[in-house]
Amino acid sequence: MAEIMSESEMKSLVDALGKIVGPQNVLDRATGRKKFIGDQSWLTYVHAHFNKPLSVQDAVATPHTTEEVAAIVRLANERNIPVTPIGGASGVQGAADATKGGIMLNLYEMKKIRNLDKKSLTITVEPGYNVKQFEIDLNAQGLSFTHYPASAEWASVGGCLAARGSGVLSTKYGNIQDHVLSCEVVTPTGEIMHLPRVPKHGAGPELTQLQIGAEGIFGVITACTLKLRNVPAKRAFNAFHFENLSNGIEAGRLIMTTGLRPAVMRLYDEYAATHSLERAVQAGLTGVTKVLMFDGDHPSLVDAEAAIAYDICKKLGGKELGAKIGETWWEKRYVFYHPPYAPELPQMWCTMDVVADFAHIENVYNKVTYAMKHALDPKWGLHLKTHFSHWYDWGSMIYPRWGVPVGPNDLDEAVKLHNKIIHDATMAAHEAGAVINDHHGVGLRLAPYMKVELGEAGMKFLGGLKKGVDPKNIMCPGKMGL
Ligand SMILES: Cc1cc2nc3c(=O)[nH]c(=O)nc-3n(C[C@H](O)[C@H](O)[C@H](O)COP(=O)(O)OP(=O)(O)OC[C@H]3O[C@@H](n4cnc5c(N)ncnc54)[C@H](O)[C@@H]3O)c2cc1C
Repeated sequence: MAEIMSESEMKSLVDALGKIVGPQNVLDRATGRKKFIGDQSWLTYVHAHFNKPLSVQDAVATPHTTEEVAAIVRLANERNIPVTPIGGASGVQGAADATKGGIMLNLYEMKKIRNLDKKSLTITVEPGYNVKQFEIDLNAQGLSFTHYPASAEWASVGGCLAARGSGVLSTKYGNIQDHVLSCEVVTPTGEIMHLPRVPKHGAGPELTQLQIGAEGIFGVITACTLKLRNVPAKRAFNAFHFENLSNGIEAGRLIMTTGLRPAVMRLYDEYAATHSLERAVQAGLTGVTKVLMFDGDHPSLVDAEAAIAYDICKKLGGKELGAKIGETWWEKRYVFYHPPYAPELPQMWCTMDVVADFAHIENVYNKVTYAMKHALDPKWGLHLKTHFSHWYDWGSMIYPRWGVPVGPNDLDEAVKLHNKIIHDATMAAHEAGAVINDHHGVGLRLAPYMKVELGEAGMKFLGGLKKGVDPKNIMCPGKMGL
């Protein structure tokens, strides 16, 4: 694999890409690196800050059609050059960083709707459609994607699929893998593959799902068919204060295991409620808080479902706080990802997302909290806010968000500190019975832990698949712990 490309090889690549997508849609090494620093992970930012960028693409190509994508991938195979797809570059793990150089494939301009089927409530769309705009455009027709990641204003539909993402309504509507029916994929050897039109079939293993969460290693998603819903006729919000986290978790377990499906169920630990949620809702929160939202096409059903869930909360000592807290959170849910709330260098920050069944989740919370709080010398002043925001009928996930007010003024030292927290917390989660992440993807941050998660045999299987479909290791080489 060519990792260091000479100036003349780079120019020849730019020329060849220009013949496929038009010269106006190609950036050379210098401009390409300036315009695309990589994704939004702290790792990407801190490396760029110290002038040692992680994303070192030799060219950026912006295709507009599947055929152009296929031609680019074939060119990369001919020249033995890496390809890294990029959507909205909102990933937080460094997955979209072109760490081995080569071609960065910017898919953000492939955003046509190919088909809208109002009878089946499905849509076939290209990967570059921005998620927020997608929802706005669908809402104008009374429809909804129901996939609302907090990064909606940057994220692309294709990036959500490739990173196996989740949205704030996942507890009812599922994660992105539950929204997708089918995909069109350019394979790592540059062929165009059309997968079965619906995910329920007996035609062998589900190859569409193999692309979901693959972060580009198995090819480029050039279109997908997604489920839609109607914009709900009613949304009912409420919030509850709990004496302790255990009761809040137990209320969530009873809600989920008895078949109720809140669209939103967010349980904040005491510090997250008083230092994070409180900033948004300013309701004088004093401790563990759960925000609930039920929605649906049939208002009477929404009310009935909500009433049963509220009873469950009250039986576990939950004190009803009313609709306003949830309504305000819903209105302001994107505000916190912008200044002055969003963290910036020289701070250090990261959100982890680990998931476990109900038998383990409280212990996972305790062990991860302990590991993070003890990972560093107290002089760094690490702060930690944790909430549970995606629930399943078998378990839940925790979002520990940590920050260090001022990180070291040295790249190696900063990365070492960052890796120590990630290592201690990831291993603590794994040992307590959790999966190393719920939906933020693997990228650079979790690549070293793929073996911990899948074991030797699992890694061999994954590596075998990769070798079989991508014999020249063109797509995102070195990623996914391979
Ligand atoms: C403030 C903030 C909040 C966030 N909140 C959430 C959240 O609520 N839920 C959530 O799930 N995530 C969240 N994220 C993480 C991130 O937004 C998601 O992972 C999102 O799905 C990434 O989409 P993207 O288009 O930006 O992908 P990118 O970052 O561009 O790429 C992600 C990965 O997918 C690959 N890829 C991109 N497009 C394709 C394609 N068409 N074919 C094949 N591979 C492709 C890339 O190579 C890379 O490996 C958040 C991020 C930020 C910064």
